[in-house]
Amino acid sequence: MKADIVNTEPGEGKPNADEAAYAAYAAQRAALLKTPDSHYVNQEAQYVHPFRIFGNVWYVGGDWVCVHLVDTGDGLLLIDSGNIGAAAMLVNAIWEAGFRPADVKWIIHSHGHLDHIGAAGFFKRMFGTKLYLGAPDAAMFRERPSLSLMQYARNAQEGLFEPDVEINDGDILRLGGTTLQCRLVPGHTAGCVALFFNAHEGGETRRCGYYGGFGLNTLKRAYLEAYGFDVGKSRQIYLDSLAKVRDEKVEIFLGNHCGNNDTIGLRRKQLENPGGPNPFIDPAAWGRYLDSRREALAALCAAD
Ligand SMILES: [Zn+2]
Repeated sequence: MKADIVNTEPGEGKPNADEAAYAAYAAQRAALLKTPDSHYVNQEAQYVHPFRIFGNVWYVGGDWVCVHLVDTGDGLLLIDSGNIGAAAMLVNAIWEAGFRPADVKWIIHSHGHLDHIGAAGFFKRMFGTKLYLGAPDAAMFRERPSLSLMQYARNAQEGLFEPDVEINDGDILRLGGTTLQCRLVPGHTAGCVALFFNAHEGGETRRCGYYGGFGLNTLKRAYLEAYGFDVGKSRQIYLDSLAKVRDEKVEIFLGNHCGNNDTIGLRRKQLENPGGPNPFIDPAAWGRYLDSRREALAALCAAD
């Protein structure tokens, strides 16, 4: 052992300073738990037992932020990596569903907000998982990282990442045995990604549709003005994206947040009637929800 290396325990020799630091930490944590940002702290309260949506598509997310697992037949694909701070919850859900977290080869991110990229760094560091993100949000990470909202994470463990693959409009991704059509649907962020792919169960094939971010929080006047965006243009971009994919054939609408497709309510129906028709198969759900977002934006504009 080199003589100049001194093995010091944290706080050694200054107990009073440590007690004050702990008191400050405890007060900050107690205050945070009483705010709307508490969903970045008490993740375990949001745990959902994972379940099969259809065939090779599983739900491994929480009760607020969705994460989907696709067993491509040659490696696992995750769509989003969960809320910030929820890596352990996601790993547990993958095991509980009967898969190995180390088999996750790819993660496609819906967009670059902190509540969808939580375990990205963990999977990359631990398993070498390849990370995918819409090209405009990759640029956002480099040029305007505050738009990721990571400053609300309150968690020094996680940071932004450099994606291995940037997704552009019209890209076709062949991952294992699954082929995904990608469309950029800017609005909620500049790099939201919509995905369309086939899922298989027995001899049956169903087309899944996923829209990478519907939230109007980033289209409120106060938000847009604070970050220097044009209000009218930003909202038009959101509407144009909805219109662009509105008439895609989607038989299974996968949510980005659980509220989009009532993920938890549909799961309850599955449990109540296990032999009955699969409640996730609903060819009208996609169009119905996209139309409701157009109306929600109109209401936001009218309230201005
Ligand atoms: Zn978001």
